[in-house]
Amino acid sequence: MENYMLTEQDFLVASISQLSISGSSSPPVVARFRSESLRFESESDSEEPVQFDLRNCQLFKLGPFQSLCISEASELNKEKSYSGGITIQFRNEEESRAFHCAFEQWKKEVVIQGSSLPNGSVTPSASKFDDKIEASSAKMYFHYYGQLLHQQNMMQDYVRTGTYYAAVIENRVDFVDRVVVDVGAGSGILSLFAAQAGAKHVYAVEASDMAEYARKLIAGNPLLSQRITVIKGKVEEVELPEKADILISEPMGTLLVNERMLESYIIARDRFLGPNGKMFPTIGRIHMAPFSDEYLYTEIANKALFWQQQNYYGVNLTPLHGTAFQGYFSQPVVDAFDPRLLVAPAISHVLDFITAKEEELYEIDIPLRFVSSVGTRIHGLACWFDVLFNGSTVQRWLTTAPGAPTTHWYQLRCVLSQPIYVMPGQEITGRLHMVAHKAQSYTLNLTLSVKSWGPGAEQGGILQTSSGKFDLKEPYYRMSQPQAYPMSQDQQGHHLLHTQDVQLQSQDEEGSDLLQQSV
Ligand code: SAH
Repeated sequence: MENYMLTEQDFLVASISQLSISGSSSPPVVARFRSESLRFESESDSEEPVQFDLRNCQLFKLGPFQSLCISEASELNKEKSYSGGITIQFRNEEESRAFHCAFEQWKKEVVIQGSSLPNGSVTPSASKFDDKIEASSAKMYFHYYGQLLHQQNMMQDYVRTGTYYAAVIENRVDFVDRVVVDVGAGSGILSLFAAQAGAKHVYAVEASDMAEYARKLIAGNPLLSQRITVIKGKVEEVELPEKADILISEPMGTLLVNERMLESYIIARDRFLGPNGKMFPTIGRIHMAPFSDEYLYTEIANKALFWQQQNYYGVNLTPLHGTAFQGYFSQPVVDAFDPRLLVAPAISHVLDFITAKEEELYEIDIPLRFVSSVGTRIHGLACWFDVLFNGSTVQRWLTTAPGAPTTHWYQLRCVLSQPIYVMPGQEITGRLHMVAHKAQSYTLNLTLSVKSWGPGAEQGGILQTSSGKFDLKEPYYRMSQPQAYPMSQDQQGHHLLHTQDVQLQSQDEEGSDLLQQSV
């Protein structure tokens, strides 16, 4: 699957010529990478193959179609090793780039293997990705993205794809004649957009088997394909032959950070982006606000009712009720909700992709402070995100906010098993502490507190505090199919809603009554 598992890789090149015999060049030859060697073999038997040891040879670009491969000087016999050089003539620029990429990749593998203990064999290429992420999680993750249906699902999110398209095309100046890296290219769609906007060359890096399909898709668009090279591998591991002027990527997961791909985006920045390079997107923000939703709360609490049966085929299930109840409340809820359920203006936490350090994403600690607009029962914290494309011509936001056109990310809500009461104007404080884990997601620790007057007021009031722990990897997808965004009263009259939507709508109406009554 990965490059380092290849046992052999061949390239057809137009010709090669020995440095020492200027002017004479060969007929087309096959350039073959195999274990520690790079061998140029002619089809005819009369020509002797030219072989290089990857551990001590170097490749230089002489021009778009021409490169120089030489053996480095060895301590023992400088003259001899310098003389072993050839110029390689490629058939086109695309093949030249692909060869350079392969050369870097093979050389890197040889160096890593070479660093193993004598006689010992170590698994090659332990990258930063492998250090942080469980192999089983990564396997499932890239299997998922290797399937066309999931790429289609993202492509069909027109808010998402349309915003990327607009951000690229409206900011042509940032792409024209520039070198672009598409970080996690998937189907290659963003690479094709960048090429449409006039990119000089796009390196589409994709770790999953989708890389194969991306190649096919790109090849089928011949006006753009000459300027795109698909490289299969992780951005943490592959080598590119040149620095990029701009990175483009869609690394956002639920709550922005799920999947931990932002870390790969930042690693790609440090590895591939040249000085003053641009990043599309440029910054991301997580937005948070407390919400009130009796229906959602009851729905979750009721899921555990099953375990309250004392006579289930003669068995008392209640010993597991508490565990089941906590289990349901540890799942963050993913759905599109009515923004009228929010009880205070949202606050936000900014992640600047240009300056952020990768380690800063391992643990994200956000202090919370809100002032309630209403008196109500708060059931938890609602979260969503947006990202900015800070183009030279146009600044464009891609938002997943409640009330904005729904995206495949929807919104996320952390529901507390113990709701808390607030009065209008009262302060709500707390903390959202997010800790990354090896399964490419986060554990979320949420605490919300309200200081109330009442018994104990003489001592400075009593503190109601409610906490919950959530696994972002195991969300409860509340919608079974795409739903119409619930309409406000004055918009009603369209009768196109499905039964399920009507249900949701009535819930939201009553939910908002609750807020209106309490105002
Ligand atoms: N850019 C495409 C796909 C986005 S989904 C689009 O916008 O439609 C993210 C893609 O990044 C997936 O295909 C996934 O396999 C890939 N990916 C995630 N982490 C990666 C990594 N570390 N290196 C290379 N590709 C990665």
